[in-house]
Amino acid sequence: MSVWEKYIRQVEPYVPGEQPAGKNLIKLNTNENPYPPSPKVEEALKNMDPEAFRKYPDPASSVLTGALARCYGVDPSQVFVGVGSDDVLAMAFMTFFNGEHPILFPDITYSFYPVWAGLFGVPYETVPLDGEFRIRPEDYRRQNGGIIFPNPNAPTGLFLPLDQVEEILKNNPDSVVIVDEAYVDFGGTSALPLIDQYENLLVVQTFSKSRSMAGMRIGYAFGSRKLISAMENVKYSYNSYTMNQAALCLGAAAVEDTAYFRDTLGRIIRTREETKVWLKELGFSFPDSMANFIFASHEKADAEELYQALKKERIYVRYFKKPVLDRYLRITIGTDQEMAALHDFLKRYLGR
Ligand code: PMP
Repeated sequence: MSVWEKYIRQVEPYVPGEQPAGKNLIKLNTNENPYPPSPKVEEALKNMDPEAFRKYPDPASSVLTGALARCYGVDPSQVFVGVGSDDVLAMAFMTFFNGEHPILFPDITYSFYPVWAGLFGVPYETVPLDGEFRIRPEDYRRQNGGIIFPNPNAPTGLFLPLDQVEEILKNNPDSVVIVDEAYVDFGGTSALPLIDQYENLLVVQTFSKSRSMAGMRIGYAFGSRKLISAMENVKYSYNSYTMNQAALCLGAAAVEDTAYFRDTLGRIIRTREETKVWLKELGFSFPDSMANFIFASHEKADAEELYQALKKERIYVRYFKKPVLDRYLRITIGTDQEMAALHDFLKRYLGR
């Protein structure tokens, strides 16, 4: 091994879901929205002048933070934007998790958290969920260097009621508490109203799921001025121009179309509830998801074999080859047509 090789940072990377090429497939594996972005985004795209790409974008991303601030009724100084919520979360890890005590997150959760902890050298401890995959607020009553959890949690889809989120906040005035709300629009309640009361609360959301813009990479966070300005300082010490001009312009257009947002959300929620009914009829069991996916297992069907059989049919779902999780498939809610195709296949597969 050469000397320079010894200096290479050793990390265990996050493994994103597959992005198979081709058109004739049903993609239910990465929690994308099955509907296109708002027509306002298409319009803004048509009106975009390439001349705007000649210059650097506004480093403060004011068009987008302003649109988000108006939409959510907060001050622009309480909004931070980034390249997907992954970027926002990574910045938050860098900014807030520098104490000597381990940070806490659930043992079953978004698998990027331990990766960032590893990359940034943040000590962490995982907190077991209860037997029904629930977060127990009382388990977060011990010394820690910060707390992070998704709400709804991933990949379970379970939502922790806001009074229990608040219980965690009340018991942890000395830590930054990050609530990752990537899936909150599909039926949860956001902790956003609590940011005025809890200066240590950061609420993170994304355009990738509920706003149908995973490919544009836009995420954002709400928090007290203190938290947001600390994140800005880290951002400006790392990369001043995280947001490109197209993302700023198209993101702002998307936020302005509340009617379309509500309509597509309503459709996905309806399809999810219908899917729960037939999955149950087929003998699947699953936590009661409030997200745009269902984490389902079947007593008589091996999850990995079913995953492979679905893949052969060009139906992609997510399978995690890890203890406990390996009995489940995470199925993103697609269009009614896509879910009907999945339903038909599962009926045949299970001999129903
Ligand atoms: N948080 C959770 C819980 C997620 O599942 C995801 C999607 N992988 C993200 C954050 C990141 O999404 P994005 O970077 O597309 O905003």
